[in-house]
Amino acid sequence: MRHPPKPFDRRQFASDNYAGICPEAWNSLQQANQGHVMAYGDDPWTTRASDLLRDLFEIDCEVFFCFNGTAANSMVIAHLCQSYHSVICHQLAHVETDECGGPEFFSNGTKILTVDGPDGKIDPKGVGSMVTRRKDIHYPKPRVLSITQATEMGTVYTIDELDALSEAAKRHHLRVHMDGARFANAVASLDVAPKEITWKVGVDVLCFGGTKNGLPVGEAVVFFHKDMAAEFEYRCKQAGQLASKMRFISAPWVGMIETGAWLTHAASANARAQHLYRSLQSVPGVTLLAVPQANSVFIEMPLDWHETLRERGWRFYNFIAAGGARLMCSWDTTDADVDMLVADIRQVASAG
Ligand SMILES: *Cc1c(COP(=O)(O)O)cnc(C)c1O
Repeated sequence: MRHPPKPFDRRQFASDNYAGICPEAWNSLQQANQGHVMAYGDDPWTTRASDLLRDLFEIDCEVFFCFNGTAANSMVIAHLCQSYHSVICHQLAHVETDECGGPEFFSNGTKILTVDGPDGKIDPKGVGSMVTRRKDIHYPKPRVLSITQATEMGTVYTIDELDALSEAAKRHHLRVHMDGARFANAVASLDVAPKEITWKVGVDVLCFGGTKNGLPVGEAVVFFHKDMAAEFEYRCKQAGQLASKMRFISAPWVGMIETGAWLTHAASANARAQHLYRSLQSVPGVTLLAVPQANSVFIEMPLDWHETLRERGWRFYNFIAAGGARLMCSWDTTDADVDMLVADIRQVASAG
């Protein structure tokens, strides 16, 4: 018999998906678990969650709930593209590197074209040249610009940067998709109303992540133009993304939005990342890669430290170069958790 993996004896910095369900989401789940309601989203919780999202974005948007971010991104890209189209995104984008070809699969062959740019952000000039370098029939026609907010590098696009990107997109007749797996962290970081970094700067569709921010499961797909959402419900159903007991996906959103926890949890995770960043500044041998703007800190340290830290029970992802590590703070990470990790890194540093 295989030994089952044990739960960790501490909160880890590997992924915000290691964390559990936040109390606000849990409380809503419990409230939703009463009696019979209609299935497949025709229930009061789903209606309420959709209305709350419309209030939050201050626009009459169309909302769909699905199980995870890969499905949300893949379905949206498939919905906006024909199979001969292409999607422009950053080379580190989740849709390119971490979805196992989901967007291409769901869209029957839509191609992903990657551009570069510092700090995980797309260079608007790269968008233009990716579109204009070929105009002939042999090239997959660019149709969508996909922006990750907050980025895979823990940075956040400013309103001006988003403006510039969407201007480039509109100039080249691209629709704008936002992968918002950590959208709440971006909103908390910029301290703006959600509309300021979405539809007001030309975002057409947002995949709003809930899971990493304390939900058990579930992402909200938000179409800011209702006509673009036509028949999206069929796509969700065909993709196996229409939950029959939908209330258990939508109810946690109600709790999160009504209490404001969606934002306070994200702000807390961001603040822990700031604390981690500042604490690591004084550790010799640790190189901090970028100033964190969301809930992750990227560092470089000698490879053998990675091993020692893992022996001490820490888990984190290797990222980018050898020696690179991603340290991710969650909604429930505390300053004491950060201090414990930093103390261990400091010890490893002074020993070696
Ligand atoms: C986590 C994440 C997703 C969603 O991943 P799933 O595991 O499919 O829920 C999408 N985009 C980004 C940038 C992510 O970090």
